[in-house]
Order: sequence, then structure tokens, then C-alpha cells
Amino acid sequence: MVVRAGREFLAIPGPTTVPDEVLRAMHRPAVDIYSGPLLAITDSLLSDLPKLFRTSGRAYIYIANGHGAWEAALSNVLSRGDKVLALESGRFAIGWGDAAARMGLEVEILKGDWRCAVKPAALEARLRQDTAGAIKAILAVQIDTASGVINDIAAIGQAIKAAKHDALLMVDTVASLGCVPFEMDKWGVDVAMSGSQKGLMTPPGLGFVAANERARAAHQKADLRTPYWDWTSRDGEIHYQKYAGTPPEHLMFGLRQALDMLFAEGLENVFLRHRLLAEATRAAVGKWAEGQAFGFNIVEAAERSDTVTVVLMTEGRDPKPLLDYCHQKCGVVVGHGIGALAGKAFRIAHMGHVNAPMMLGTLGVVEVGLHALGIPHGSGGIQAAVDSLGESVPA
Ligand SMILES: *Cc1c(COP(=O)(O)O)cnc(C)c1O
Repeated sequence: MVVRAGREFLAIPGPTTVPDEVLRAMHRPAVDIYSGPLLAITDSLLSDLPKLFRTSGRAYIYIANGHGAWEAALSNVLSRGDKVLALESGRFAIGWGDAAARMGLEVEILKGDWRCAVKPAALEARLRQDTAGAIKAILAVQIDTASGVINDIAAIGQAIKAAKHDALLMVDTVASLGCVPFEMDKWGVDVAMSGSQKGLMTPPGLGFVAANERARAAHQKADLRTPYWDWTSRDGEIHYQKYAGTPPEHLMFGLRQALDMLFAEGLENVFLRHRLLAEATRAAVGKWAEGQAFGFNIVEAAERSDTVTVVLMTEGRDPKPLLDYCHQKCGVVVGHGIGALAGKAFRIAHMGHVNAPMMLGTLGVVEVGLHALGIPHGSGGIQAAVDSLGESVPA
């Protein structure tokens, strides 16, 4: 017996649910790339993306996923042999560092762990030792979807200032832009990158990089520049140059629609919606955790992200039967653990185009699965999620 007819819910931390409006905006014939409406869409996207990053700097659009945008960010500001410091708090800053190493950069990792956020004081101490200024850039992630942590980017920016170090601060916002506040200029971020398929509710395939004046100055001397990623050629007047070739038309139509939806809802409301749905999720997980078969991966409540909740199993219990049950019996795809948490954790996303019924439905299905599989869990998880929303969303 299964109860999964109807629309499947995707509750993985990327790609996320693409709204019907975005799908419809993409369902149209190709258009001219040299004149007409596409040129205006490019102008509007290039002026709206900096508003999302909250910078007076410039944005660039690549036909790429997040891994591509990582490479775009590094290649535009660094030179072979430069040293970069990657701040560990899960998988993704390390992954960005791995890409840097393969591009010929020297990579140092500021050790952290998978259960807590980067410690700004540790960064400050490391930078104070670097009296020669060998470290040229710092790679940080705002929300790491493998561990479920949110790093305090403002505090990381402060730590760099306090150490009076002039390394560039480069931040991965793939799993946070358009979901939680990000203040590129105010926090002292020089380069930020993101992708289309998470908070921005658009299919995978677009990578974004935003750069401030300091980054653009570093760009002048960078020797890792290559034709496709290069900002200087993309700054050219000709439309074709802005994409280093044919523009990704349909993804642009989709992104335009998605940004219109985010701005119509209001970014502050979007951030609050994410927070309240995350709180409801955490309320449910907190109750279930009383059964001691699992708990939050991120130890400190304040460091748990508002886009994904990572649930760590105890005693070597494999989450796979639960995830299989949710998908095959009930039509909800919950994320499995990745990297160090593969086979040890599951991940519930609350990111992008999500609302109360989707989250209550997802949490309900997880609770049904816990029950059906006899996995010990505290009772009242769904009630706690309902109470949380009932209180935080007044009539
Ligand atoms: C998903 C993700 C990435 C990788 O993005 P891809 O589009 O899969 O290359 C990078 N960083 C973070 C924080 C992510 O969550």
C-alpha cells in the first residue's frame, strides 16, 4: 500500500521546488540575442542581483552551477601560488578550497568541525600570525547545507578588520541568498557567489558572482583569469560579451519571474517566512529527538540554519529506510546526509518556494515514517510544529 498519488514534494536542499509561474515563464520560443526584449532582461537582472547581495558593486551571470561560480570567483581575483584560507564548518568551504588547490592556489584550512559554526576569534588569531600578509583570500560559506550550520558572516568580517588583515573575504551564498539576510557591503564581503537552484527557485544552470571595488582592483593583477569567467570581457558593451557567448535565455526568463516573485513578497517577508518555517521544523525535530534515536547535528540552537535542518542519527542507525519510506510510500523526498554525514544523517530543507502546507506535510510524513518503522521518537512533533506556527503567525 502506498499513499503517494498527486504532487511529489521535494524537500532536499537543492535543487528546490520551481514555482509554476517560473516554469510557465520559461515555456516560450527562443528569441533574438542581438536585439529586442532579451537585452532589457539582462539589464534588469544585472541591476537586481546586486540588490539581492546588497552591494553597490557589480554582478555577473554565468551558465554554471555553484561549482562553476566558485571557479569564476577564484579565477577573477587570484594568481597562481596565492594562499587562500578556507573556513571549515561542513563540506562546502572545503570543496571550494579543493577547487582552489586544483587551480594552482595554496590552500590552508582553518580547522572547524561539522557540528558548529566558524569561530571568528580563531580566524582573527590566525590572521594576526600572518604578519607577512601571505593569505590573499578567505573562503567562507554562509549556510552549509551538509552540516546545516549558519555562519555569522558579519562577525567574520569584523574579525578580519580587527586583525587589520587585507585578505579578500569571499562568501558562498548558494544556500542562503534570497532566504536569509545577507549584507555584502555592510559586512565587508568583497566577493560573493550563488546559484539559481536553491533560494532563487529557478532550475539549476545559472551561477552568480558579485564583486566590490576591492575585488575589481585585485582583478587587474589576477593571473588565473580565463576567457569564459573573465569580468573584464563581460563588462564590455555588447550583449553577447556579458555571457561570453549565447545567453541562457530560458533560465533568464525563469530567473526574472522568480526575482519578481521575491520582490513582490518583499525580501523581509521572504526571510521571515523562512525563519518561521525553520522554527516549526526545529520544534518538530526537537520533540522527536526526545526518543534519543537522533538529534540536531548543529549543537548550538543559534547556529542552526533557516534553510535546512540536518538531523543526526545515533548508534549507527542508518536513515535510509526512513527516507525510502517517505519517498516510496508517501511521495516526499527528504535529503540524505552527504560528506562526513553520509549514511548518518538526513536533511529536511525549508528553502525557496516553501509554505506551511508543504512543511507540515513533509514533517507529517517523516513522523508517519518514524511510527511505521518503529524508530524511537518523542511524541508530539507535529503538534509542536503546529503550535509554533500558530503562535508565530497571528490571525
Ligand atoms: C549546493 C551548494 C553548492 C554547490 O552548488 P552546485 O550548484 O551543486 O555546484 C555550493 N555551496 C553550497 C553552500 C551549497 O549548498
